[in-house]
Amino acid sequence: MNRPKRLLVANLAWAHETVARNPGFFRDLTRGQNPHVLWIGCSDSRVPAETITHCEPGDLFVHRNVANLFDPDDDNSASVLEYAVRVLKVGHVIVCGHYGCGGVRAALLPPDPGLPHVNRRIAPLCALANTHREALDARASEHERVDRLAELNVLEQVRQLRANPIVRQAEPAPLIHGWVFALDDGRIKVVTSGYEADDAMTCTTAVHSVA
Ligand SMILES: [Zn+2]
Repeated sequence: MNRPKRLLVANLAWAHETVARNPGFFRDLTRGQNPHVLWIGCSDSRVPAETITHCEPGDLFVHRNVANLFDPDDDNSASVLEYAVRVLKVGHVIVCGHYGCGGVRAALLPPDPGLPHVNRRIAPLCALANTHREALDARASEHERVDRLAELNVLEQVRQLRANPIVRQAEPAPLIHGWVFALDDGRIKVVTSGYEADDAMTCTTAVHSVA
């Protein structure tokens, strides 16, 4: 049996099992979606959003690309954010990177002439690596440099999302969270929580109103 055929057989099994567990499951799906989370993750096959968070169809609105990058000038990224925030009114946007990310590693290596699209796409990541060159070079191994840049990358995407007009103009604005998934134990590290950012913003507002 070829691979696509195997996937189709698995799909049949999944549909049967799902309806056996919950007879109303697919009827509910046809009524529309109401996800509370926009997930921006890496395309890496080892980091499937729903699987690693035990989510079901309907739980996550998902955008995945190489190295979980959010580019406000790219209609692909921006349209996902726009729809998630303005139509679905998600309360949370989670940027989830992962350790051992090939896209992040590529940003630390000379450009591969055979991958022009990837090179263009990760250009901002290369710039971020240059900004943090000294701190990254201080890391003992390539592996550690890649993992640190994966964290810095998530923080940078979070910063861009928090500054984005679509997010800022939303009422209420969704909280933006930065996570990194570890391939070696399957756990997620929170590098920045939307709740902390919210607290920080509240404190800043309070200081301003006192002043
Ligand atoms: Zn990756």
